[in-house]
Amino acid sequence: MSVTDPDCLFCKIVAGDIPADIVSETEHTVAFRDVNPQAPTHVLVIPRRHEPNIGSLAAADPEATITLLAEARSIAEAEGNGSYRLVFNTGADAHQTVFHCHGHVLAGRSMAWPPG
Ligand code: AMP
Repeated sequence: MSVTDPDCLFCKIVAGDIPADIVSETEHTVAFRDVNPQAPTHVLVIPRRHEPNIGSLAAADPEATITLLAEARSIAEAEGNGSYRLVFNTGADAHQTVFHCHGHVLAGRSMAWPPG
């Protein structure tokens, strides 16, 4: 199902209207490198369909959600050393700044806990 928001930055990346460093693509997802990387590997995995967050994606399209999670794992396995962090900032107070669902795949360095 094609659901897009013409004003959404990540929908424009999905459409190819804004360039991105693409890592992988599937029927349901696109993965590309974050412009402001926070780790040696920092890839964003997003659904093609516009949904504001992972919860709404899971409710609307379980198949796309599973594909997104599988893609995150594949990227982390290809680029990491077995350890990675998969982050879905959800809501402005959780530092979500782009309101098109995206998982941050972070790998390639040691990480602290708790996150800030
Ligand atoms: P969040 O704060 O969780 O909403 O994450 C949004 C992420 O998108 C940030 O890490 C940004 O660096 C990243 N970002 C913003 N614009 C672009 C872009 N054009 N291409 C790649 N990454 C981007």
